[in-house]
Amino acid sequence: MPSVRVICANWILPVSSPPIRNGAVAITADQIVAVGDRVSVLDTLSTTGSDLAVEEHPHATIIPGLINAHTHLEFSHLQAPLGHKGISLPDWIAHVMGVRGETDADSKRDSIQSGLKELYETGTVAVGEISTFPTTAVADYSIDACQFHIHKTLFLEQLTRNLELLPQRGAEAAAHLNQRCIGLGLSPHAPYSTHPDLLKQIVDLAIERNAPLAMHVAETKEELELLESRSGKFVELLQKLGVWKADSFGDKDSIDNIIEQLGRHNRSMLVHGNYLNDRQLQRISELKITVVFCPRTHAWFGHDQYPLARMLELGINVAIGTDSRASNPDLNLLEELRLISQTHPNVLPETILSLGTRCGAIALGVDQRFGTLEIGKGSAIGVIDSDKDEHDPWWWLTGKQAASVLR
Ligand SMILES: [Zn+2]
Repeated sequence: MPSVRVICANWILPVSSPPIRNGAVAITADQIVAVGDRVSVLDTLSTTGSDLAVEEHPHATIIPGLINAHTHLEFSHLQAPLGHKGISLPDWIAHVMGVRGETDADSKRDSIQSGLKELYETGTVAVGEISTFPTTAVADYSIDACQFHIHKTLFLEQLTRNLELLPQRGAEAAAHLNQRCIGLGLSPHAPYSTHPDLLKQIVDLAIERNAPLAMHVAETKEELELLESRSGKFVELLQKLGVWKADSFGDKDSIDNIIEQLGRHNRSMLVHGNYLNDRQLQRISELKITVVFCPRTHAWFGHDQYPLARMLELGINVAIGTDSRASNPDLNLLEELRLISQTHPNVLPETILSLGTRCGAIALGVDQRFGTLEIGKGSAIGVIDSDKDEHDPWWWLTGKQAASVLR
C-alpha cells in the first residue's frame, strides 16, 4: 500500500482554486494526490487503503512552492545591495564590475551554493538563473547532487557588440545547451551590450533547441536614451570600459525590434520592462512574451511606478524575480510579493500569489510540476507558519514570516 502524507492546515491556497479553510493536501513522495477540505480529503483517502500519515499544522498556511524567475546567484555572498538607493544602472554596473574583479571560480561557486540554500530556506522550489561564462551546470549548481531540491533553469548570459565574436558566442551557447542536464536556456544580456545580430543568432539557436530565453529590456531611462539618441550615461560607461562602438548601433537597436525578436520564440522572458510604452505592452501581450518583474530591485533603483496593473489587464504572463543580492538585500520571494501588495493595492492578493507561483512556473516551462496545488502536480509545497489562528487567508502579505519548503 502506498504511503500518503496528509498535511492538514488552517489555510490551503491552491492558486488554481479559492482558499480552503481547515484544508488538507495529500502527497506521496513526488506527487499531490488530494487537495480539499480536511474532512473530505481524509474521507476519500480512507477508502483507498493507503497508509496515511496525518500531520497537523493548525496555524499554518500551505501554498505552492515559490518560483523565482530571475536571479544572478553569483552575487549571493553580498551582505547589502551595491551603491545607494536611487543609483543609476550605469553607475551600479561599475560597482558590479568591481565585485566581479574580486571573484575567482571557487568563490563564485560558493556564492551560488549559498544563494541556492537561501532560496530553498525561504520557500523557493524553482529558479530562473542567469549564469555567466565560464560556468558548468553540474559543478557550480550541483545539478546532479540534487542539493536543496530546487529546479534550476540556467540561462547562459551572452553579450558583445563586436561582430567578430559571433562565432565564438555561438560555440559557447551550443556547449552550454549540450550539457547533460535539463533546464538550460540562453540570455542575451541587454540592449546596450548585445548586438542585434547576436540577439538574432541566440534566438535562432533557442528556437532550434527549444531552449528558454531571458533578456533584460527597457530597464532604465538611460537605456532608452542610448537607443534613441546614442547619448547619456551608458555611452560614458561603455567608453570607460573601452567597448563603446558608436558604429555598432543602428536601426535594429530599438526596443520594438527586440520585442519582435523575442516574440519569434514561444519561450521568451523579457526581464524588467520598467519603461515599456502601451503599444509595446500590447505587442508583448500579442506575442505571448512573459515579463519578469523584480519589485525590490525596481525600488532600489527608484524607477517610476511599474505598469503591473496594465500588464495584467492585457493578459501578459507576469512572473516575479528577486534579481540578485547586488540590488536586493536577500533572495526571499515572499518579500517581493509583500512589496507588490504595498505598492499595487488594487492588485488582488490571489493574483499576487499567482505571480510568484503559477506565472513563474509557466515562464520557466515547469508548470506541469509546479505553480499550483492540484492533483498530479509535484509535492514541492510551501508552508508559512503563524503562531495563531489566522482568519484572513492573505494574512501573510502583511506579516514578516518567511515561507519554507515542506520537508
Ligand atoms: Zn538581472
